[in-house]
Amino acid sequence: MVKERARILVVGGGYVGMYTALRLQRKLKRELRQGDVEITVVTPDPYMTYQPFLPEAAAGSISPRHVVVPLRRVLDRCHVVIGEVTAIDHTKRTATLITLATEEEGGGADHLDYDELVLAPGSVSRTLPIPGLAEHGIGFKTVEEAISLRNHVIEQMDIASSTRDPAIRDAALTFVFVGGGYAGVEALAELEDMARYAARYYHNVGPEDMKWILVEASDRILPEVGADMGRYTVTQLRRRNIQVLLETRLESCAGRVAVLSDGQRLPTRTVVWTAGVKPHPLLAATDLTLTGRGRLKCTAQLSIDGADHAWAAGDAASVPDVTADEPGAETPPNAQHAVRQARVLGDNIAHTLRGEPLETYAHTYAGSVASLGLHKGVAQIYGRRLKGYPAWFMHRVYHLSRVPTFNRKARVLAEWTLSGLFKREIVSLGSLEHPRAEFELAAGGKPQSERPDDPKGSN
Ligand SMILES: Cc1cc2nc3c(=O)[nH]c(=O)nc-3n(C[C@H](O)[C@H](O)[C@H](O)COP(=O)(O)OP(=O)(O)OC[C@H]3O[C@@H](n4cnc5c(N)ncnc54)[C@H](O)[C@@H]3O)c2cc1C
Repeated sequence: MVKERARILVVGGGYVGMYTALRLQRKLKRELRQGDVEITVVTPDPYMTYQPFLPEAAAGSISPRHVVVPLRRVLDRCHVVIGEVTAIDHTKRTATLITLATEEEGGGADHLDYDELVLAPGSVSRTLPIPGLAEHGIGFKTVEEAISLRNHVIEQMDIASSTRDPAIRDAALTFVFVGGGYAGVEALAELEDMARYAARYYHNVGPEDMKWILVEASDRILPEVGADMGRYTVTQLRRRNIQVLLETRLESCAGRVAVLSDGQRLPTRTVVWTAGVKPHPLLAATDLTLTGRGRLKCTAQLSIDGADHAWAAGDAASVPDVTADEPGAETPPNAQHAVRQARVLGDNIAHTLRGEPLETYAHTYAGSVASLGLHKGVAQIYGRRLKGYPAWFMHRVYHLSRVPTFNRKARVLAEWTLSGLFKREIVSLGSLEHPRAEFELAAGGKPQSERPDDPKGSN
């Protein structure tokens, strides 16, 4: 029995937000039924994205619908509000938020009062002031970006196939990825694999015509799978004719020319930026304690340091790694920690409401798996290293076991099974990004993509 009626506000509907709310739904079933507890989840999208599947979604191995989990369905005992929290005054226990209706209503931002706060807005891409990056760079954190990148790559192959201008063809067939973490490496490897396959159906574009380039500022890639497996991945990618440029930086992509620190100048229409993440800017709009790196300073019980009734986990939080030998170590920002932290966080809120002692978060990193295209992969799990097909298979088994809900597991498995029986999908639905273009043309207007002020048109 909780002490008094508690309003729990969960900011973010990603790994931490969804799993914390799920845990609270389960732990506080009776209290929710009796109206002693109310859980509100505020998040910009009505779905949670299973980000490790984004590279496979980009490659067409999984449909975009199946890499997301509908929040209203799984969080059926919570209030799900589609909106963005823009500031938090924890002293007053108030969050400021804007929803889809805020602008239409014209009355300014809404305010939401709470008793317990879970702050989990995750991270955003860490960009640098590189000329041309804001205009031409492509991110890879959302399902929309993954699908749009797939469409973009196939569209570039179509452009290359139909132009007589060698400069246009060259730029269209040059794909630059910046950042050698799992997001960048998996995205590049999966898309290259898909494009190599798709090239079979082009009479004048072959795999040897395409330039795939991975630019990494440090001297290694995939630090998550260890130094040996990182080196193995470099060798594998180079065997596929992918240029892996270590200790190299992107210096500019203005005018659609990627200028690298080794002096190369590469005309390209594709610069994918996956060079790490930084804490969400919302954190700076709160009165909560941040670390020097801008993450929420948390205790090992996942409460925010120096604040009562405020909790955090995942990419937004700096959580002490109590399993590490070196003092001051934090848990790294990844899904493995986010999911486990969410469970402890949910339990600790329930403990707090019931006046029970809190649990400490302790998890030793189990390792990582990465897919490098169909039947290719690399993994390090509990110190065991796997390469090639076994690693790829392990990647699929692991993520199938992890993707939330039985419904999504069944759908993803069905898709993988079907794709083993039939040929790969190579269709690009690029026009989904301009769904009104056809009708606007029929109605006598100019399609939006052709208007001079449209950023897509100038892409
Ligand atoms: C392409 C890719 C591949 C990855 N692969 C792996 C992998 O193989 N293994 C692994 O361990 N990790 C992987 N990760 C990292 C992993 O996905 C993250 O560490 C994890 O998502 C962090 O969880 P989170 O809840 O902190 O943030 P998120 O899951 O990003 O959730 C944040 C949520 O907050 C919402 N939000 C943002 N702003 C606001 C706001 N103002 N108000 C309200 N809500 C807001 C967002 O919309 C989102 O729903 C990958 C990441 C990417 C991008």
